[in-house]
Amino acid sequence: SLVAQDVHAWFGDHQVLSAVDLVMAAGEVTALIGPSGCGKSTFLRILNRMHELVPGAALAGQILLDGQDIYDPSLRPIESRRRVGMVFQKANPFPTMSIYDNVLAGLSLTGQKVKRRGKDNEADALVEHSLRSAGLWDEVRNRLGTPGGSLSGGQQQRLCIARSLAVRPDVLLMDEPCSALDPTSTRRVEETIRQIASEVTVVIVTHNMQQAQRVSDRCAFFLAAEGLPGHIVEQGSTSDVFERPRDERTADYVNGRF
Ligand code: ATP
Ligand code: MG
Repeated sequence: SLVAQDVHAWFGDHQVLSAVDLVMAAGEVTALIGPSGCGKSTFLRILNRMHELVPGAALAGQILLDGQDIYDPSLRPIESRRRVGMVFQKANPFPTMSIYDNVLAGLSLTGQKVKRRGKDNEADALVEHSLRSAGLWDEVRNRLGTPGGSLSGGQQQRLCIARSLAVRPDVLLMDEPCSALDPTSTRRVEETIRQIASEVTVVIVTHNMQQAQRVSDRCAFFLAAEGLPGHIVEQGSTSDVFERPRDERTADYVNGRF
């Protein structure tokens, strides 16, 4: 599991998150919802240690991955980012690199080596496994040498998921992964998210309330309002948050009233 404990975050002297406590359990999909500017993307960057790369950014609190603090100085930042991967709003495969090489591209970034030639070739199996997990194998198995940029938008997003899975992360963070996709591609990516949840802990940010209900098991509603930094107003099982919200602001948000 990935656990955020009493997380506070600042950009300079502007506080953007306050007292965020959230348990993201293995085997579950957690959806983060809330209005624009409430700190969802900032929180995702905190979860994979990218927040410390932003000039002027500060952080208090702890992020524990299976009990280990990912900001522990003895853990290399690159290892934290390997274990907690990220998929972005806009699919970003290397456009001129082959599909095959795109899947393996994250390995060199994280310093992992995989045998690519000879009898003990490990790369082929890893590429196939990653593409299968991402629900893309059947569509690309006969064109692995073609450029990543030649795929449709939805296929590119699943290629990025395969690239993230190839480094064998414990957690996959997804920041609005479907907001640039048509409804059919969105459904394919949602199926993929449900499937990979058995392998990795998934945390997804979405503005699409139907999507949050379709893909997530648990849901956290963030808000930055009334002079307060972003904080969690309500969290719980997705069905509780949507069907039996305890807070009036949650009810208004999930029903599209702001
Ligand atoms: P959206 O739904 O529009 O993507 P969000 O919930 O992801 O919004 P964030 O992007 O996390 O919101 O931004 C939270 C707050 O932090 C905003 O006020 C934003 O302007 C501010 N912020 C984000 N990144 C930086 C940065 N690098 N420097 C200064 N302020 C920042
Ligand atoms: Mg965002």
